[in-house]
Amino acid sequence: MHQSTLTQLSTALKEKKVSSEELTQLYLDRCKNFNEALNCFITINEDVALENARTADKKIAEGKNTDLTGIPFAHKDIFCTNGIKTSCGSKMLDNFIAPYDATVVEKMNDAGMVMLGKTNMDEFAMGSSNETSFYGPVKNPWDSDHVPGGSSGGSASAVAARLCPAATGTDTGGSIRQPASLCGITGLKPTYGRVSRYGMIAFASSLDQGGPMTQTAEDAALIMNVIAGFDKRDSTSAEHPVDDYTFRLNDSIEGLKIGLPKEYFGEGLDSNIAKIIEDGIKELEKLGASCKEIELPNTDLSIPAYYVVAPAECSSNLSRFDGVRFGYRCEEPKDLPDLYCRSRGEGFGKEVKRRIMIGTYVLSAGYYDAYYLKAQQIRHLIRDDFQNAFKDVDVIAGPTATGTAFKLNEKLNDPVSMYLSDIYTVSVNLAGLPAISVPAGFIENLPVGMQLIGNYFEESRLLNIAHQYQQVTDWHKQVPKEYK
Ligand code: GLN
Repeated sequence: MHQSTLTQLSTALKEKKVSSEELTQLYLDRCKNFNEALNCFITINEDVALENARTADKKIAEGKNTDLTGIPFAHKDIFCTNGIKTSCGSKMLDNFIAPYDATVVEKMNDAGMVMLGKTNMDEFAMGSSNETSFYGPVKNPWDSDHVPGGSSGGSASAVAARLCPAATGTDTGGSIRQPASLCGITGLKPTYGRVSRYGMIAFASSLDQGGPMTQTAEDAALIMNVIAGFDKRDSTSAEHPVDDYTFRLNDSIEGLKIGLPKEYFGEGLDSNIAKIIEDGIKELEKLGASCKEIELPNTDLSIPAYYVVAPAECSSNLSRFDGVRFGYRCEEPKDLPDLYCRSRGEGFGKEVKRRIMIGTYVLSAGYYDAYYLKAQQIRHLIRDDFQNAFKDVDVIAGPTATGTAFKLNEKLNDPVSMYLSDIYTVSVNLAGLPAISVPAGFIENLPVGMQLIGNYFEESRLLNIAHQYQQVTDWHKQVPKEYK
């Protein structure tokens, strides 16, 4: 049962082959059994989950259920959950009990879904390996000496090990797609503004976007049907009509034009990864798609631009954690400056401090024009590159990550090499586009993801292509040995 997709679980619940309470207990047992090995959960909420499962069973019995009523899942610990600890992977928020639900949380609750717990993550979502968490690193279920990717590494690891059938993630520069790639699951980063950021703890507000992490594209579509939409409580939420994301899943992709950016396939791409992505693209060609080389000439500027914009916004967003209103406060402060300095000094980890310092520097008078403004100009160039490309093609395909999951500690003390590994994901966030990563193969028993990038609000199309791909491949069905 634990290997089932959301779609299969939904049918089993509706046909009363299993109750939500049984299902929830099954996944809770798995979470408890395997969390010591994987460290993918910060909080497991057994009592609340079982109570919600019983409520869901009543709704099903009364015929008041939605497609996802009674289905267990997990939230990344960046989403505020009323009455439940929301740590964002940081000591700073280790004692924070959110007083309200994020919009995404509210919508999934309203659909009758059952939250099992909150998943581990890089501190304040800063990282690509899940090693910056205050709660310790998460392990990759395919090989526990390797990272799961980050920052949504807990969600990716939990879904890959089938400790929950689905989870939420957030993606500021790749944090849904890259861990999805490294753990062999499907991860969709929606268009900026498509999913509400209300109650999602801010890292870099002009880049942050929540989305689903699932086994299949079909499952991601089901979750999108619940979480997408305008929210007046998020000032950058998009007032664009919402699709039924399952409606086009079975459309043919005959005639689809795929763009292959020459910058993504050139120097720097591991030849084994290149081969897997090329094979993935061949599958799409067999389904009637055609390919064309395209150019995204400003790709090499995306990392420097991202690592100016993201720290700048984080330095501003994280200034609210001052030891006064909520969060960690140092012991026995001498005076107010001491309280600020020690609360922040003790509450934040190394990577977060590094980003706050970079961000404060690039925003300071005298450097603002040279760094922050320049980065914003580059952002326009990157967006224009994509818009030019989408004049000729429907979708862009390429790798999600530069390699398979690296070893724990391999890049931890070399932040620049960690940053450079984000090359295929950050430009999508700078432009605000939607993109999906789907499992496409393995190298030495470690998964590899293929990325598909769409034009604004083309999530339905991405899900359609990914679903068609998953009808003719079975990479997404692979489960690590110990978790079968
Ligand atoms: N790895 C990127 C960073 O550290 C992306 C993080 C994210 O998407 N939250 O900034």
